[in-house]
Amino acid sequence: MQIFNPATEGIINELKEEGEQSVKKKFHELKQAQPDWHKVALVDRVTILKKFSELLKKNAESLSLVLTSEVGKPLQQSRNEINGACARIQWLTDNASTYLSDEVMVQEKNLTEKISYEPLGVVCNISAWNYPYLVGVNVFVPALLAGNAVIYKPSEYSTLTGLEIEKLLKEAGVPANVFHVAIGGKGVGEMLLNTSFDGYFFTGSYKTGKYIYEKIAPKMVPCQLELGGKDPLYVADDIADIKSVAAATADGAFYNNGQSCCAVERIYVHEKVYDKYVEEFVKEVKSWKSGDPTEAGIYFGPLTRKDQLNVLKNQVDEAVQKGAKILTGGKRVSSKGFYFEPTVLVNVNHSMKVMCEESFGPIIGIMKVKNDKEAIELMKDTEYGLTASVYSSNQNRAEKILQEINTGTGYWNCCDRVSAALPWSGRKHSGIGATLSHAGLRAFTKPKSYHLRG
Ligand code: NAD
Repeated sequence: MQIFNPATEGIINELKEEGEQSVKKKFHELKQAQPDWHKVALVDRVTILKKFSELLKKNAESLSLVLTSEVGKPLQQSRNEINGACARIQWLTDNASTYLSDEVMVQEKNLTEKISYEPLGVVCNISAWNYPYLVGVNVFVPALLAGNAVIYKPSEYSTLTGLEIEKLLKEAGVPANVFHVAIGGKGVGEMLLNTSFDGYFFTGSYKTGKYIYEKIAPKMVPCQLELGGKDPLYVADDIADIKSVAAATADGAFYNNGQSCCAVERIYVHEKVYDKYVEEFVKEVKSWKSGDPTEAGIYFGPLTRKDQLNVLKNQVDEAVQKGAKILTGGKRVSSKGFYFEPTVLVNVNHSMKVMCEESFGPIIGIMKVKNDKEAIELMKDTEYGLTASVYSSNQNRAEKILQEINTGTGYWNCCDRVSAALPWSGRKHSGIGATLSHAGLRAFTKPKSYHLRG
């Protein structure tokens, strides 16, 4: 398997993909090792995962370089990702004992009723490349804390990072056969689906997620999916500072080149503030530098996947053909690397792919609306349900709008953010189940009820 640098299009590494035999061997080793890992006291598992976080911090600079070399995100954004992963590990390790220890529900004279949170066993994590540390940590950290063994299949676009993660987990004290990496793409993913894991945790596209969900169903084991989105954002007419709202929301749309599951993917603006907002938004986007992601001050690196250049071009061309206007950008950059110009489109509507299908790149459509009612109708008009965001000076007004929209997360005066203390969950085509928070710790357990007399 060849690993490319998306900024230079050069090959930076070649690795051997797993075969049927190595997948079987790894599964067998995990199965053997898991019961002993569960016997390790929770407090000791917590110490090991805290050590893993320290190692991430200690090696942050070299890990950031590896990440940037294979996914193309600007070096500062790689550093931010590793910092963010450490913050999540901190919350998960600090709260593991509260949510994973036995819970006494009834205590009477001769009767105790309690819940014990047993690990699922050996779990399979098939992951995405856009934030390999963050989406990885969401799964393998709570899974290990809960006493599971884990096979982790990084995306074929972030394999080197997957191998770094394995190295540091082992260095932190996770036993050799409690965590394995499976190297490879779709074919290796299929091998994992054909193996008898005790739970499947997937991060990726709706298309692959739906396929996995159907394939896993007969196994009757937990299957959680964290999928894509087409996240809407509404700017109401009562915002105090249009310039700062335009800057913050542009960042929500374009950070990581728009390759975030919760990136802002479509914007609706009240007609009273529309012109000024669009002017400030475009100014902000034009102020960001694009180029070599290892250089300081770069905001836009290349896209990670070459194929996405065509998806974006297709969305822009179709929108323009149907009457959209390009205010900036609109095409691939002609130099080496998978660069696409940051693109802002107006005069858009919901007949266009750019307002309905996940773009997962640096393009955004901005649409003028007459009032909150129209904004709500348009925000609801989607197959996805990950996040929605409202900018307004009035919390009540914002919360009322967010209550109408079927998403796992609602944002008031912020967007494109995740908290380890809150469930991260998609609805409809954005997924099933939750990671992070107490829900995300217990997702890797099966409750056993004890009725104890005497
Ligand atoms: P993808 O679906 O192409 O691939 C995801 C993983 O599935 C990869 O590891 C891939 O090798 C594997 N895979 C592909 N086909 C498979 C098959 N038939 N059987 C088993 N495994 C298979 O997605 P991607 O391009 O890596 O990630 C981008 C998508 O992920 C976007 O839609 C994004 O919104 C979503 N995402 C969601 C979240 C979230 O938390 N909701 C987080 C990050 C990314």
